[in-house]
Parts: sequence; structure tokens; C-alpha cells
Amino acid sequence: MAKQPRRKCKVCREWFHPVYSNVWWCSPEHGAQYALALRSNEKKKAEEERQAKRRQAVKPMSYFIGQAQQAFNDFIRYRDRFKPCISCGRHHDGQYHAGHYRTTGASPELRFHEDNCHKQCAPCNNHLSGNLAAYRPKLILKIGQARFDALMGPHELPKWRRDDYIEIRNTYRAKLKELKQQEAA
Ligand SMILES: [Zn+2]
Ligand SMILES: [Zn+2]
Repeated sequence: MAKQPRRKCKVCREWFHPVYSNVWWCSPEHGAQYALALRSNEKKKAEEERQAKRRQAVKPMSYFIGQAQQAFNDFIRYRDRFKPCISCGRHHDGQYHAGHYRTTGASPELRFHEDNCHKQCAPCNNHLSGNLAAYRPKLILKIGQARFDALMGPHELPKWRRDDYIEIRNTYRAKLKELKQQEAA
């Protein structure tokens, strides 16, 4: 058997010559100590994982809705990145939002509807409540009368649960990534 190169004991840091390649301790005592330390590390890691899961479980629904909305809005803004504000038609250096035509308050079922949400400048979104009078003709121009009519028609409110919001979030993160990859290609 080839002689093992010397190594430092995992416990006392002293150099020693191991007999076998899987020995990381200088003596049986330090071997036992090392095994205990490994076990307690594993326990600590398992406990940390349990706590992380518990923290997720107690998060309120609003947290998951917020994450899904954020991912959806990021996608909308990127999809429309070369377009001007849907309402006022301006290109400017200020902040842009993802502005819903039918508001999430009045039409929560259209919260994640891509025809219902477009890049919008902060002044239109915040100060003009979406500037809907100007939004309407631009939206019809953009998506066509048929899709606009469909958007304005009735929609069922899905019974979204926690897992649905997580799925929506993941879907839109993936769609955004795909768009960015297409652009890089
Ligand atoms: Zn040792
Ligand atoms: Zn605007």
C-alpha cells in the first residue's frame, strides 16, 4: 500500500501520517471528537432547514401575491422595454411601472393578464391613476379591437392559492429569463 502523505488532524491541527486515506484524525480520541463534531454540524444544518421551511410556511398570502406581481411586472416592463409609456406615448428617463388598464382592485382576475398590463411612466401611473383615457386608444392600437373586447369582457376570478402564486412567480421569472436570453443570442 502506498504511503499516505502527511496531513493535519481535523481536531488538533497537528501533522500526522494517516494509515488510510479516509483518516483525518491523529488519534482514536480525536477520531471520536471529529465524528461528534460532524454529527452536530449535520444536526445544525437540518435544524436550519426546518426553520427556513417554517418561515416560508408562516409567511402571509400577501407575501406570495407580492412576489408573483413583482415577477409579472418585471416581465411586462422588459417585454415593453423599447416602447414608450402606453398612456402618454413619451420616452423619458424617469421611472417606469407596469400599469394595469383594468385595475387590480376592481378586476383582480386580470392581475396577471398580459393584455391588461403595459409599460407606463411613473407620472401616468401614480399621478394620473393610469391615465386611462389616453391608455384606451393606445391599447386598442397595440393589441387590436378583438383582444381589447375580450379583455373588457367577463373573466372568472381564479381561486389562487399559495402554490399558484409561487407558480406564477416562477413562470414569469422564467419568461423574463427567456426574453433576455433571446436578446443575448
Ligand atoms: Zn489530533
Ligand atoms: Zn405616461
